[in-house]
Amino acid sequence: MHQARTKIVCTLGPSTPNQQIIERMIKSGMSIARLNMSHGSENEHLDMAKNVRRASKHLKKPIGIMVDVPGTKFRIGPVKAGVVNLGINNNVELTSTNKDGNDRLFNVVPEGIEDNIETGDSILIDDGLIELKVISVEKTSLKCSVIRGGRVTEGRGVASPGKSSQNLFPSKKATQALEFAAKINADFVALSTITNPEDVITAREILLKNGCSPFIISKIERQEAMNNFDSILSESDGIMVARGDLGVDVQLAKVPVIQKEIITKSNAAGKPVITATQMLESMINSSIPTRAEVTDVANAIFDGTDAIMLSGETSIGKYPVESTQVMTDVALHTEPTLPYEKLILEKQIHQESKTDDVISYDACQSAHQLNAKAIIAFTESGSTAGRVSKYRPKTPILALTASENVQRLLTIRWGVTPITTKTLSTVEDFFDEAQSKAIEVMDAKHNDKIVLVAGLPIGVAGGTNLMRVLEII
Ligand code: PEP
Repeated sequence: MHQARTKIVCTLGPSTPNQQIIERMIKSGMSIARLNMSHGSENEHLDMAKNVRRASKHLKKPIGIMVDVPGTKFRIGPVKAGVVNLGINNNVELTSTNKDGNDRLFNVVPEGIEDNIETGDSILIDDGLIELKVISVEKTSLKCSVIRGGRVTEGRGVASPGKSSQNLFPSKKATQALEFAAKINADFVALSTITNPEDVITAREILLKNGCSPFIISKIERQEAMNNFDSILSESDGIMVARGDLGVDVQLAKVPVIQKEIITKSNAAGKPVITATQMLESMINSSIPTRAEVTDVANAIFDGTDAIMLSGETSIGKYPVESTQVMTDVALHTEPTLPYEKLILEKQIHQESKTDDVISYDACQSAHQLNAKAIIAFTESGSTAGRVSKYRPKTPILALTASENVQRLLTIRWGVTPITTKTLSTVEDFFDEAQSKAIEVMDAKHNDKIVLVAGLPIGVAGGTNLMRVLEII
């Protein structure tokens, strides 16, 4: 199987009920499995996490697990018939009162949908597929008329553009999800609907208190989060362009420009960024995507995304394996056409005046000029390989680490193949190991050049200070 350099995040759910299907998704290119705690029970997520770990072990391929922590988002409560078709011009009430939904009334959870809303406001259901207009604001409900109809089911998001929920992070549900992430030793935790850097600090404290230190990925899905983007980025380990909710809170037409801005800033900071939502939406029901969808995936790669994400396509769709394969195919066709020479020159301005960053940049430059077979980074914490990935070298990056945790953290990094290695204690050990892994994993041959980066003394985290070019003997 050919692995794309762009990493693929797949959301698990009812469509991925067993280890076998997860193994097929891994073979099709999944590098991170996402558990969306907004849907399903904790036991279901626990089973899925176990299936991922088993599948990963069976296929001997590292797979990261991402726990997506619910935000303070309003959702449709239980619907009596399972699904209701809302017709245009009908009147419908959204209420905080606990009643089963029908074609005239829906319970919205948590309470408070009517706060902050005025007559004439627009209400979007299911990421904007359905639109209502508010006719009157009552004590515990909103009376609305249907502008754009459609199918309503339990759990669909409900929002008014620019008027996000005022509930503070973390909600009780978010705290439970963070504790669950710690319990399963999640590699990545994605934070929904956060609006400021303090939310990231709070989440990190809860995780640390529970003995877990995953990568924290801040989902940007509110205008307020965009306003505070620079400070959120500096507190986060990575970013997600959460286009679903973002396209509800800001004007939909602004989403492409915001996507580019978020990716550009995350790239400059060397922090991984995921582009998410509706990438192959039609594949929920169709075995092939639309032209526009494959173009969207390719454009996210041209924008500089580290990872691309599938949501409904893999969690509730009919074609989870095929959707994953389409992501891989598009990435494999797009990546060779990236302007690598131009990229590395442009990215020099983002070089920090620090030894590890300068060495990582120089390794990419040297590998390019020497037409090296691989850049091999020996990494204790994952940061050396991350820094090399920041410069988007055309040369494949092989990360050697003694830690399985670090190996899984690197599943998000563009272009990095993370592999575990025995504990190395001297620089000579590293040179020997790098050569044998280049031969084994990269098919390097006699006289091929490899570029090595590491920190001396070997075995101490941080401080990349060595670059070496070796010829395979
Ligand atoms: C999104 O809104 O784009 C997103 C990824 O979040 P969720 O799937 O939780 O709606």
